[in-house]
Amino acid sequence: MARKFTDSRLIIASHNKGKIDEITSLLEAFNISVTSSAALGLIEPEETGSTYLENALIKAQACVTQTGLPALSDDSGLEVEALEGAPGVNTAPYTKAQGGHHKVFDLWAKNTDIKKNPRATFVCVQVLLWPDDHQEIFEGRVQGRLTFPPQGEHGHGYDPIFIPEGYTKTIAEMPLSAKNMCSQRFLALEQLIKSCFK
Ligand code: IMP
Repeated sequence: MARKFTDSRLIIASHNKGKIDEITSLLEAFNISVTSSAALGLIEPEETGSTYLENALIKAQACVTQTGLPALSDDSGLEVEALEGAPGVNTAPYTKAQGGHHKVFDLWAKNTDIKKNPRATFVCVQVLLWPDDHQEIFEGRVQGRLTFPPQGEHGHGYDPIFIPEGYTKTIAEMPLSAKNMCSQRFLALEQLIKSCFK
C-alpha cells in the first residue's frame, strides 16, 4: 500500500519551467500549495544517473536534503526507435551537446533512418520522496511519431516534433489542457495521485 501524502505543500524538484507548469496545473484540483526547487533558489544537482529512476532520485534527494520536506521529482526522455532508443535517459545532455532542441530537430529531419521509421516514445519517471527516505515511484510512457518541420508554439522541449499515437497534431499545437490529457507526465502523475493523494 502506497504512503499517503498528507502535507499541505509539495515541492517539485525541478528547474524546468515547462515541467513545473505542467505538474502545477495537474495538481490544481488538490488544494495543495505547489512550489519548485527553482522558485526556492535551491541548488540544481548534476544528473549523473544511468537510468531515469536514478536521475529522478538524485533530483528528489537534493531537494529533500536542502528543505527537509517531501519532494516530487520527474526525469524524462525521448526514445527514438531509429536511434535504438537514444537519446532516452541522456536526452537533456544530448540536447545541450547538440546546441539546443532546434539544432536536434534540424539534424533528425535529415536522418534517413528516422524518415523510414519515425516511431518514438516519451518516457517519464516520477519519484515522491520523504525525508525518512520512503519513496513512491511512478512511470508514464506515450508512443507516437516524429514529424518535421517542427509545428506549434505550446509546450516545451521536443513537443513541436512529436505526434502522439491517435492524434494528428504535435503536442506543441495543443494547449496545455489538451497535453495534460495525454502526456507521459500526466500518466505518471495520475497513478501518483490515485496512490498517494486520495
Ligand atoms: P529532464 O527530465 O529535465 O532531464 O529532461 C530531459 C529532456 O527531455 C529535456 O531535453 C527536455 O526538453 C525533454 N523533455 C522532458 N519533458 C518533455 C516534454 O514533456 N515534452 C518535450 N520534451 C520534454
